Amino acid sequence: MNRTFYVTTPIYYVNAEPHIGHAYSTIVADTLNRFYRAQGYETRFQTGTDEHGEKVVQAAQKEGKDPQPYVDRISQLFRQTWPELNIQPDHFIRTTDPEHMAVVTAILSRVYESGDIYFSEYGGQYCLGCERFYTEREIVDGRCPDHQTPLTFIKEANYFFRMSAYQDWLIRHLQENPDFIRPERYRNEVLSFLKEPLEDLCISRPKSRLTWGIPLPFDENYVTYVWFDALINYLAGLGYPDGPLFSKFWPSVEHIIAKDILKPHGIYWPIMLQAAGIAPYRHLNVHGYWNLDQSKISKSLGNVIHPRQLKDRFGADAVRYFFLREMVFGLDAQFSEENLIQRINADLANNLGNCFSRTLTMIEKYCGGFIPESGEPGPEEQRMKEHLLKVRETVSQEVRKVTFHKALMTLWEVIDGANKYVDAQAPWALAKDPALQDRLGTVLYVLAETLRQTAILLSPFMPQTARSMLDQLGCGPEKEPVSWEEELVWGRLAPGTPLARGTALFPRIEVKKETPPPPPRKVPTVEMKAPSLLMGVESQAMLLATGDGKRLTVVVPEGAVPPGAKVK
Ligand SMILES: [Zn+2]
Repeated sequence: MNRTFYVTTPIYYVNAEPHIGHAYSTIVADTLNRFYRAQGYETRFQTGTDEHGEKVVQAAQKEGKDPQPYVDRISQLFRQTWPELNIQPDHFIRTTDPEHMAVVTAILSRVYESGDIYFSEYGGQYCLGCERFYTEREIVDGRCPDHQTPLTFIKEANYFFRMSAYQDWLIRHLQENPDFIRPERYRNEVLSFLKEPLEDLCISRPKSRLTWGIPLPFDENYVTYVWFDALINYLAGLGYPDGPLFSKFWPSVEHIIAKDILKPHGIYWPIMLQAAGIAPYRHLNVHGYWNLDQSKISKSLGNVIHPRQLKDRFGADAVRYFFLREMVFGLDAQFSEENLIQRINADLANNLGNCFSRTLTMIEKYCGGFIPESGEPGPEEQRMKEHLLKVRETVSQEVRKVTFHKALMTLWEVIDGANKYVDAQAPWALAKDPALQDRLGTVLYVLAETLRQTAILLSPFMPQTARSMLDQLGCGPEKEPVSWEEELVWGRLAPGTPLARGTALFPRIEVKKETPPPPPRKVPTVEMKAPSLLMGVESQAMLLATGDGKRLTVVVPEGAVPPGAKVK
């Protein structure tokens, strides 16, 4: 069995600064990378920046800069953002790296020589924003379907990649490999797209129009850009074709993308690989969008949410947890501060944080701050041990399927279980009876050991929290990565280990309430009482009124009156 794992994020286009969509893809990749590393795999995680194209030139011009210093600055912003979110890529690639450009050139030559790149004149509707031509079928009311802006008719001679020749191959490959693109909805989307004849892909721009690209090796008047540049980063970062990393990691490559780039990754890329004689990737993992609920985002965070601001305000691991727990991978999710704070307070502060802190407090109080000796485990303890084994299995399966929300839900069952166990065993009561000291030791040991294993299971998702839990339990510092095989063995926590209590894992986030609106004016009714029969008619309630027979006025009691009070 292949024990390597290679995960990539898209390389992010440097016409804008990092936002939460970038952060999500990159957190997913980091979580997968840490998970596989903990299973003993040799892993590699690559992210980076996409730096060529017209939009980049325009963005640089806006800042009065040449493209190179501009891309240097934005690329650096991305690079610096990731460690802030406890993200540790092994390699940060830039499409302006000479190594990358050399690989693009080599692949272009190879595909050109095999006859799959040809020269032709093409006239069509072009979107400057998307940097691509649109076919009549795609155009909506004469406008770009993405930008809703008018298109420009451009006629020029360019180089084209013969995708049509590989359409049948790709359909077959998708049919034979049902999870090649996942979740299934995106595989179906690609298959349905492939029902129509595939058009060849324009891969060049004349230098007269764009110079900020990679020169074509077979025509000095043209550059390539976008897909024949960007997608190749996944190979270039491994030192394709001769680098030892390439032969080691390419067979296990998994891409993480957002659904906006499904077509290039689900269609162009496998066909480019096939045309270049390179094996296809193993999985394309496609996630949805984070929709911002603008009305629920405070001014301090602004309209564009910068991952760094989130980290500064809520902490890196809390943000990671929220992203992974809140979004069903593949579907869109709603980002709001309210949801984020609610998750932090309920799941992290109240549930995990509280369980951890009460356990440590009891060990300090009743055992002098040392992990106690465990007595004979009873059926309750046996159940908890077995539950942990089951949870480990489920978490592993779910992470492999990129269903992180399910993995975390399962993991939180352990914490719920531990909290219930504390309440049921009531260590504070055991502590009062000298004859029950053995039992007290067993209960507190089981809690501490459960929390140690929880920390290890949590480590791919929330590495800093896991580290802190292990440290406070007296288990740190340990070697990284934490091996699940070695560490998820019941009883590894040695009795007699001194705790190293630190700060609370997740302080509750207090939400400053706005001044509440004044209470609504009481509507003058008398409270409901049980229905009764009044003159043979069922009455649900009673209003007292007075008046001259034409105009009635409701009589309202001055103070609160209990239901059923007598009218005197
Ligand atoms: Zn567009």
